[in-house]
Amino acid sequence: MKVEISKTYNAAEVESRWYGWWESQGYFKADNRSSRPAFVIMMPPPNVTGMLHMGHMLGDTIQDIIVRRKRMQGFNTLWLPGMDHAGIATQNVVEKELAKQGLSRHDLGREKFVERVWEWKREYGGIILKQIRRIGASCDWSRERFTFDEGLSRAVREVFVRLYEEGLIYRGKRLINWCPRCMTALSDLEVKHESKDSKLYHIKYPLKDVPGTFITVATTRPETMLGDTAVAVHPDDERYLKYRGKAAILPLVGRELPFIQDSVVDPKFGTGIVKVTPAHDPADFDMGVRHNLQQISVIGEDARITAAGGKYQGQDRMEARRNVLADLEAQGFLEKTESLLHSVGECQRCSTVVEPLLSEQWFVRIKPLADPAIAAVEQGQTQFVPSNWSKTYYEWMFNIRDWCISRQLWWGHRIPAWYCDDCAEMIVSRTDVHECPKCKSSRMHQDEDVLDTWFSSQLWPFSTLGWPDQTEDLKAFYPGSLLVTAYDIIFFWVARMMMSGLKFMGDVPFREVYITGIIRDAEKQKMSKSKGNVVDPLEICEKYGTDAVRFALARMGAPGTDIAVSDDLLDGYRAFATKIWNAARLIFRHVDASDRLASLNDLQRSNLSIADRWILSELARTIEGVNNSLDKYNLHEAAREIYGFFWHEFCDWYLEMFKLHPERSKAVLIHVFETALRLLHPFMPFITEELWQSIPHRGDSIVIASYPEFEPKALDAEADTQITTIKDIIVKVRNIRSEMGLGAKQPVALRVATTDTATTQLLTGAREYVFKLAQVSDLEIVPSLGDNKLGARTVAAGLSIEVPLAGLVDTESERARLTKEMEKVQREVDKLLRQLSNASFIERAPREVVEENRRRLADYEGQSAKLSESLNRLI
Ligand SMILES: [Zn+2]
Ligand SMILES: [Zn+2]
Repeated sequence: MKVEISKTYNAAEVESRWYGWWESQGYFKADNRSSRPAFVIMMPPPNVTGMLHMGHMLGDTIQDIIVRRKRMQGFNTLWLPGMDHAGIATQNVVEKELAKQGLSRHDLGREKFVERVWEWKREYGGIILKQIRRIGASCDWSRERFTFDEGLSRAVREVFVRLYEEGLIYRGKRLINWCPRCMTALSDLEVKHESKDSKLYHIKYPLKDVPGTFITVATTRPETMLGDTAVAVHPDDERYLKYRGKAAILPLVGRELPFIQDSVVDPKFGTGIVKVTPAHDPADFDMGVRHNLQQISVIGEDARITAAGGKYQGQDRMEARRNVLADLEAQGFLEKTESLLHSVGECQRCSTVVEPLLSEQWFVRIKPLADPAIAAVEQGQTQFVPSNWSKTYYEWMFNIRDWCISRQLWWGHRIPAWYCDDCAEMIVSRTDVHECPKCKSSRMHQDEDVLDTWFSSQLWPFSTLGWPDQTEDLKAFYPGSLLVTAYDIIFFWVARMMMSGLKFMGDVPFREVYITGIIRDAEKQKMSKSKGNVVDPLEICEKYGTDAVRFALARMGAPGTDIAVSDDLLDGYRAFATKIWNAARLIFRHVDASDRLASLNDLQRSNLSIADRWILSELARTIEGVNNSLDKYNLHEAAREIYGFFWHEFCDWYLEMFKLHPERSKAVLIHVFETALRLLHPFMPFITEELWQSIPHRGDSIVIASYPEFEPKALDAEADTQITTIKDIIVKVRNIRSEMGLGAKQPVALRVATTDTATTQLLTGAREYVFKLAQVSDLEIVPSLGDNKLGARTVAAGLSIEVPLAGLVDTESERARLTKEMEKVQREVDKLLRQLSNASFIERAPREVVEENRRRLADYEGQSAKLSESLNRLI
C-alpha cells in the first residue's frame, strides 16, 4: 500500500494537527527524578497583558530549537513557561476599563480593585501563552507559573525579609522618578526618553551685597528655581574664584544661595554657573548630599506647586512655568530664551512627563549584591553569547545605584512591613502582623506600597521551582543551563537574576546567556507602533506557515544581530517547506507501508550505487556541521547547512539520480529522508512530524526520536569526488544547452577528453546519470577533443568537454558564447589577482582564505587557457 499525502502543502492544516497531541502525550514534561542530565531554560515571563510580537517569536523560536534538540539528544529538558503580573502595566489596563464606566480605582477601593484585576487576569490575561503554543514552543505547561501566584509571593516575602534583616533593604528619602498621573514611583526602566523641542531660559540672579551685579544661569525648567538652594561652579574655574564665600539672591523668592564648588559642573556649558535644585534634579540631589544643602520640594506628587512655592502654590507645573517666566520678564531677570532639542523623560505607560521627586521609598542596597555577580561573570561561571555583551553587563554593574523597589500601586506584592498606630513601631515580617510586639497594640497597618515587578521577576530562576522550600524540582533544575533574552533587558533583568541567584541559591541562575538581536522591518527600521511597521507574528504564521517563519528567524538570526523581516524572505522559506513536501510526495510514490527503516550498517553492507554512497556521505557531513553550529548557538549556520542539504543535494541532485534505479536505492532514500527530517525537526517541528509519521520510522513521535549524530564511517571521499565530477559535467552541458538555445528534450552527444583510467572508468560507470540528467544520448571518451570546428567546448571538473553542434546551431552564436564565458572567467582571474597582490589583504586574511584564493586562481587560469583554445579553434 502506497502512502498518500495531500497534493499541495497546507501549512495551516498540518500545524493544527500536532501540538495538542504532543502536549497530551507529555513529551514536554520534565522529570525531576530522571537520572539523565538536565537541560533547563526559564522562559522570560511575558507580561500578563502581553500579546505575542516578533521579538517574542524570535526568542521563543531560538529557545524551542535549542530545547527540542536537547530533548532529542536525551537530556531531561525543562523549558518552564509563565507570566509576569506586570504591576503598572496591568493596573493601567484595568483602570482604563473602569474609566469607560466613569469609575476610578479609588471608587472601588483597594480590595475590590485588586479583585477586579484578578478577574481581568482570569478572563483576558495570558492570551500570549496560547499564542506561544501556536508557534510550537515545547514548554512544560504542567509547571507554568505566575509571578503573583501563591508560591512565588511567598518567595518574594522571604527575600524581602532576609534582605531587610541583613540591612540590604532600607527605607529612605531619595530622589526618584515619579509619574504624576499614575501617582507612583518608577524605575529607570519604566521611563522612556523622548527628544523634544524645548527652550533654554537664561536667568539673571543678583549677587548679594554687590548691587547691580548679576550672574546668569540656564535652565529648561524655570519653575524648579523656586526650589534652588545654591549656585555651583567648577572648583578650577578661575573666572569665579572671586565668588568664593559669596552668595546670590534667588529672584522672585529672595532666598540666599551660597556659591559652592563641585567638579560635576561643566565650565564650558553656558556661563559655567549652574543653579542647584536638590529636590528636583538627580545630579543636583547628589550635589546637595555632598554639600549638605537644604532640599526644598516645590512640586508635589500631583505635579502642582507646593506651599514651599509661595505665591505659585496650587498651580500646575506648566502653569507655574508660564507665570514664573512672566514675572522674571517683568522684573528684568530673564536675559534671553533659546530653542533647544532636549531629552524629556516620560512614563512608559501613560506618556506623562516624569517628575524627579524627593520621596520616602524602599531601596535595595545594591553594591554588596553586585560584587559577587560581577565576579561570577569574570570567573566564567556564567558566559555571554556573543561574549562581548559581558562588557555591557560590567558597565552597568560597576555604575549600579541603589534600587528603588517601592511602587505606589495596588496591583503587586505588598511590602511586608507593618506600622503600629500607637507607638509608630515598624515590623518587617514573613507573616501578617496583628499585634505590636512593643506596645501590644492591635492597631497595626500594613505599608500601602507594592514592590517593583522586577523584584519578583529577578527570582524567576528559583521561585518557579518551589523555593524557599527545598523541592525535588529545585534540586533537579537549579542552576539553569541557558537564558535567552534580547539585548535591551540585559541590565534590568539578567543582572538582577544573577545577584539574587548568587545571594539566595549560592550559585549563578544559568551557565550561559544567549543575547538575541531585535527584529526590524524590510527597510531595517526598528518596529514600533508609531511607525506603523509592526508585523503581527500570528498573521504572518497564518500567511506563510509557522514552520517557514521559524526557519526564517533562525536562518537570519546570528546571535546579537538584528533581523530584517520582509515578504521576500518569508516567501523563500515557505518555498522551502513546499520543496520538502513535494520531495516527500515523490518519495511516497516509491515507498510502501511495509518498508522498514534500514540502519547505516545495513545500508553499507548492501550494494550501494555511487549516488547512494555520495548522499550518505553528504548527509554525514551536514549532520556534523549542524551539530557543531548548534553547539556554538550558531543557529543561522545550522539552518543554512540544513537548507543547502535539503534543497540542493537531496532534492535537486539525489532525487533525480534516485529515479534511475528506485528499487535498488529505496532503502537509502528512506534512511536519508528520515534522518534529514530529524535533523530539521527543531527548526520546523510541524511539517517534520507530519512527514515523519508517514515514512518508515522508529518510535512514536519525532519529538522524542534521537537527534542525528555524526557518523564518520559514512564519509566517502571517493564517491564525493566522483559525484562532484559528474555534477559538474551535467551542469556544464546544461549551461551549453541553455546558452545555445537547445530545447529541453533535444538530445545531444558529449565528448570528454581524458587519458586517465580512473576517470574513464568513472565516466563509463556513471554515464547513465549524465544521460538522464543532461539529456545526453551518446558519450565518447577521447584522448583529446581534436579539431572539430563545430562543437561547444568548456571545462568541467578539470576535463575538456565538448557538445558537438553540427546541425544544431551556428558558429556565430557559439563564438559569442565562448567569448562570454571567457570574459566571466577573466573577471574572476582579475579579481583574485587584485586581491592576492594586495599586501594588506595577505596580511590580514586568515591563511586558509589566502590559500583557497590561490587555488581558485590556478583553477580559473586553467579554464581560461582551455576556453581560449576552443575559441581559437572556432576561427
Ligand atoms: Zn504614568
Ligand atoms: Zn506599638
